[in-house]
Amino acid sequence: MNNDIERVLYSEEMLGKRMDELATDLTKDYKDKRPIIISVLSGAVLFTVDMIERLDIMAQIDFIDVSSYFGGLGSTGKVKLIHDLKIDVKDRHVLIMEDIVDTGRTLKYLMDLLADRGAKSIKVCSLLNKPEGRKVDIEPDYVGFTVPKEFLVGYGLDYKGFYRNLPYVGILKPSVYQND
Ligand code: 5GP
Ligand code: MG
Ligand code: MG
Repeated sequence: MNNDIERVLYSEEMLGKRMDELATDLTKDYKDKRPIIISVLSGAVLFTVDMIERLDIMAQIDFIDVSSYFGGLGSTGKVKLIHDLKIDVKDRHVLIMEDIVDTGRTLKYLMDLLADRGAKSIKVCSLLNKPEGRKVDIEPDYVGFTVPKEFLVGYGLDYKGFYRNLPYVGILKPSVYQND
């Protein structure tokens, strides 16, 4: 698995340090809001788990699965709801946890959905942000790292469902997907 990585961008240690900083900000901003933290499956699960243990707040956790990539390299442009939330977001503060914002289409879809359902506030915390990929005008409120326009894997990010369990974020060798 490690042999398929061209370069490590963010080591486990770098990720941890940045998450400590993000958690300090989020703890301050959500102290008395009792938010619902919404983790976007499957990519944001590792990030969500490592973040919530750092948050010193009362919060509920829920999961939603929306997909536009279907495990490949490029976005299909369409977003589909695969698995819905269990908790009603009406009149609640919600914080969406994402792995990466690229075109912004997934986020746009989610924010519209939660706004329709009457959420009191909607903010987004994304581990990674790829502004050069943007197709819709939307920005995450909290960002771990701003990344170049490369295909990244690890720490939740997959290629065809694999590499999510790498403890770091790296660039996948093009030779891995050129043969597919
Ligand atoms: P968007 O809707 O913003 O284009 O894409 C969001 C989703 O696309 C992410 O949650 C992630 O699943 C996938 N994605 C975007 N860029 C990358 C990338 O560099 N690597 C991987 N593995 N997935 C990505
Ligand atoms: Mg994916
Ligand atoms: Mg995602």
